[in-house]
Amino acid sequence: MTRQFNTVGVVGLGTMGAGVAEVLARTGVTVVAVDVDEAGLARGRGHLDHSTDRAVAGGKLSAAERDATLARISYATSLDALAGVDLVIEAVPERIELKAAVFAELDRICGPDTVFASNTSSLSITEIGVHTGRPGKVVGLHFFNPAPVLKLVEVVRTVVTEPDVVTDVVAFAEGLGKTPVVIGDRAGFIANALLFGYLNHAVRMYESRYATREDLDAAMRYGCGYPMGPLALLDLIGLDTAYEILDTMYHQSRNRLHAPAPLLKQMITAGLLGRKSGRGFYTYDGPDSPVVVPDVHTPVAAADAAPSREVQRVGVIGTGTMATGIVEVFAKRGYDVVLRARSAEKADAAVAKVRKSLDKAVSRGKLAEADRDAALARVTPAVEFSDLADCDLVVEAVAEELSVKKAVFEALDEVCKPGAVLATTTSSLPVIECAAATARPGDVVGLHFFNPAQVMKLVEVVETISTSADVVATARRVCLDLGKVPVHCGDRAGFIVNALLFPYLNDAVKMLEAHYASADDIDNAMKVGCSLPMGPFELLDVVGLDVSLAIERTLYLEFREAGFAPAPLLEHLVKAGRLGRKTGKGFRDYSA
Ligand code: NAD
Repeated sequence: MTRQFNTVGVVGLGTMGAGVAEVLARTGVTVVAVDVDEAGLARGRGHLDHSTDRAVAGGKLSAAERDATLARISYATSLDALAGVDLVIEAVPERIELKAAVFAELDRICGPDTVFASNTSSLSITEIGVHTGRPGKVVGLHFFNPAPVLKLVEVVRTVVTEPDVVTDVVAFAEGLGKTPVVIGDRAGFIANALLFGYLNHAVRMYESRYATREDLDAAMRYGCGYPMGPLALLDLIGLDTAYEILDTMYHQSRNRLHAPAPLLKQMITAGLLGRKSGRGFYTYDGPDSPVVVPDVHTPVAAADAAPSREVQRVGVIGTGTMATGIVEVFAKRGYDVVLRARSAEKADAAVAKVRKSLDKAVSRGKLAEADRDAALARVTPAVEFSDLADCDLVVEAVAEELSVKKAVFEALDEVCKPGAVLATTTSSLPVIECAAATARPGDVVGLHFFNPAQVMKLVEVVETISTSADVVATARRVCLDLGKVPVHCGDRAGFIVNALLFPYLNDAVKMLEAHYASADDIDNAMKVGCSLPMGPFELLDVVGLDVSLAIERTLYLEFREAGFAPAPLLEHLVKAGRLGRKTGKGFRDYSA
C-alpha cells in the first residue's frame, strides 16, 4: 500500500512554490506554505489568487472550487509550522547553502517519517540529503514552470533514497495528475540538462549580435514548432534561476557550453530577472506580467521600408522537395516562375510534382480550382540557364554539395541581368562560397526555407559579409509577401535553427549513450516537460540520422566546440544503415 501524503508543506512561494501549492490544493491536499517574510507570502498569495481567478475566468474551475482550493492553504513565515506535515516540497532559490540550511532545520522540526522533496532544477539531491539525518527519505520532485499546466515531474532518487519513498512519491505525483519519470541524481536531470545548453547558446547568439531577440525566438517557434522562443522562455524561468542551473551544470560537466553566458550575469546584476521583475530580455507591462511592451530594442517598422529591388519574375533551380515546394509557394502568390532543371524530362516531372501538390490542396478544399490553374499557368519549365536571364530573383535549391552549387552560381553570374538577386537555400554550406563564385557577391543572399516549404513559415535570410543592404531588404520583403516569417542572421554554420537544434539533439544521444535515461523517457520529458512537439529521438528519426550527422559534423568543424562533436552512437547507427524512418530503423524500429 502506498503512503498517502495528506498534508504537505511548501517552502518558498516564488515562481515555482506558488504554482506547486496551487497544484496540491486543487487536488484536495492540505497545504502549509512558508516563505521568509510577510512580503514573500503576500507575493505568493497574490500569485495564487491571480492564477485561480484566471482558471475560473477560463471555465476550468468553479468559483466554489477556487474558494475551497484557497481555503486548503495556510501561510506561515516560520518552518516550525511544518512540524506535522507528511511531506515537504522545498522551492527556495537555487543555492546549495540555502537549501542545505532549510533542510537541516526541517530535519529538526519534522517528525522522522516526514519525506523531504526538493524542487531543485540542478543541484545534487544527494548533497541536500546529507544535511539531514534522513537521507533515505530525501528525493527530488522537479515540477516544470508553470506547475499547474505542465505535466512532467522528474522524481530524482539518490543512491540512498529508500525504494518505498520513491514508490510513494511517484504515486503521489500521479494522484496530482502529473506524469512522473524516475531518474538518478545528475545535474539538470533529463529536461534541464538538455534544455539549458540550448538556452545558453541562444543567449550567446544574442550577446554576439548574431540575431535579434525577436528573430531568435521566431526562428525556434516557426522553424521547430516550439511554443516559445529561448529568450522568452528564459524570461519566464527567471534569469537568476537559469544562471544557477547553468552554473551547477557547468561545475559538474565542465562543459564550456554550460558556462553561463556573461550577459546573464550582467542582466541579473542590473535587476533584469525576467517576467518576475517586469524586465529581462523583453520588457513587460509590469512585474509578473506576460504582456510584452515595446522598448528600445523593439525593431522599428522602418526596417521593412528600407530600399529594395522590384521582384516579379522568379527563377527556381532544382527539382527536389525544396525546389518544387518553393516553386509552388511563389506561383501561388502570383509570381511568374521559371523552373530550371537539368533536362526537359526532369523539368516536366518537377512541374507535375507541383501540380500534384496543388491538386491535393484543391481536394482538401484549401485551394480553388481556378487558383490552382492560375498558379500552374505561371510556371514555365526550362533547361537552359539563359532562360533565367530576365528573372529578378533566382533561388537555387540543388543538391547540398558545394561544387554543384558553385557551378550554378558561376552560370547565373553569366546569364542573369544586372541587379538580379541570387539566393541559395543551402542549410549548411557557407553562402559566401556561392557569392565568391560570382563577380557580384553583393547580390547573393541565403534564403533558407524549411521543409515542407508550402507549410513551414520560417525563412532564414542569411547575410554574408558582402551582401548589399538592399538585397537583404528585398529578400525580407519577398518573404513577408509570401506570408512567411523571415529572420535575419549571419553566415555561420547552422544559421539559427540548426545551430540551436542539433547540439541539443546530440546531447540527447549522449544522454542515452550514458544510460542515464531511456529514449522513451527522454522523448517524454521534452514533450511533457517543455511542450516540444516531438522528442529528440522522434525528431532525429524523422530528419534522418545521416542528415543529422552531416549537420552536426558541419557545426563541429566550423566552431570546433568539443561539445558539438557527434555522439559515437549516432555515428554507429549511420554506419549500420539505421538512418531513421526512411530505412525503417533508427533509434526506434518502424518495420513491425
Ligand atoms: P523564486 O526566486 O521565484 O522564488 C523563491 C522563493 O523562495 C521566494 O518567494 C523567496 O522569498 C523564498 N525564499 C527564499 N529564502 C527562503 C527561505 N529560507 N525559506 C522560505 N522561503 C524562502 O525562485 P523559483 O524560480 O520559484 O525557484 C525555486 C526552486 O524551483 C529552485 O530550486 C529552482 O531551481 C526550481 N525550479 C524553478 C523553475 C523555474 O522555471 N523557475 C522550474 C522548476 C524548478
